[in-house]
Amino acid sequence: MKLTVIGYWGGYPAADGATSAYLLEKDGFTLLVDAGSGSLSKLQKYISPNELNAVILSHYHHDHVADIGVLQYARLVSYYITGVQEVLPIYAHTEDQKFASLTHEYTKGIEYNPEKPLEVGPFRITFLKTKHPVPCYGMRITDGKSSIVYTADTAYTEEWVPFASNADLLIADCNFYADQDGSNAGHMTSKECGTIADQANVKQLLLSHLPQYRERNQLVTEAKHYYQGSVNLAAEGFIWRNT
Ligand code: ZN
Repeated sequence: MKLTVIGYWGGYPAADGATSAYLLEKDGFTLLVDAGSGSLSKLQKYISPNELNAVILSHYHHDHVADIGVLQYARLVSYYITGVQEVLPIYAHTEDQKFASLTHEYTKGIEYNPEKPLEVGPFRITFLKTKHPVPCYGMRITDGKSSIVYTADTAYTEEWVPFASNADLLIADCNFYADQDGSNAGHMTSKECGTIADQANVKQLLLSHLPQYRERNQLVTEAKHYYQGSVNLAAEGFIWRNT
């Protein structure tokens, strides 16, 4: 499977950027994980919105779902032009009344049960409820060959260690520097991301949901104090693929 970072800013997009959105592809199937602000624009550098086969959402904060509405419009306009459009499934939890807004003429909200694995195309997805001010689910996504763990938005909890165990890639919410405390905001520091990556023995760590202030390479340096493996800052167009 192949992962492309579409958006990685936390809270709001920096100039010419996008907030959380990741494109997963395998055998021609495309899955968008979260659809943050600016992501529909950025997505079109890689695929047409009409080529999306499914979307899955971690939670309903604006920086993860802001572009769902315009994605619905994109599918609608495409139908008017081509006369052809399949309904796009948007998988999400139902612990928020905003779930209803996911169903539109050309999109359909589909509830996932976080207690059970979900099969979407070639992907099998399991969930972990995160520590966040609103209900939010991190995901472990496998294609049967490799595993990607996406923390979505979360404060530190040691539950991440077994959940991310031996993952090939850990995409971690790193919204704070090591000298800060993200627990009340529901986000992690570079130190906490590095600690989870180390204890879970993941192969690679990708720091995402990044802050707009200070020198972000410092986050990598700080995470490396706790984790000896490969650490990268998320960037638009960053690609990971299993080998
Ligand atoms: Zn959030």
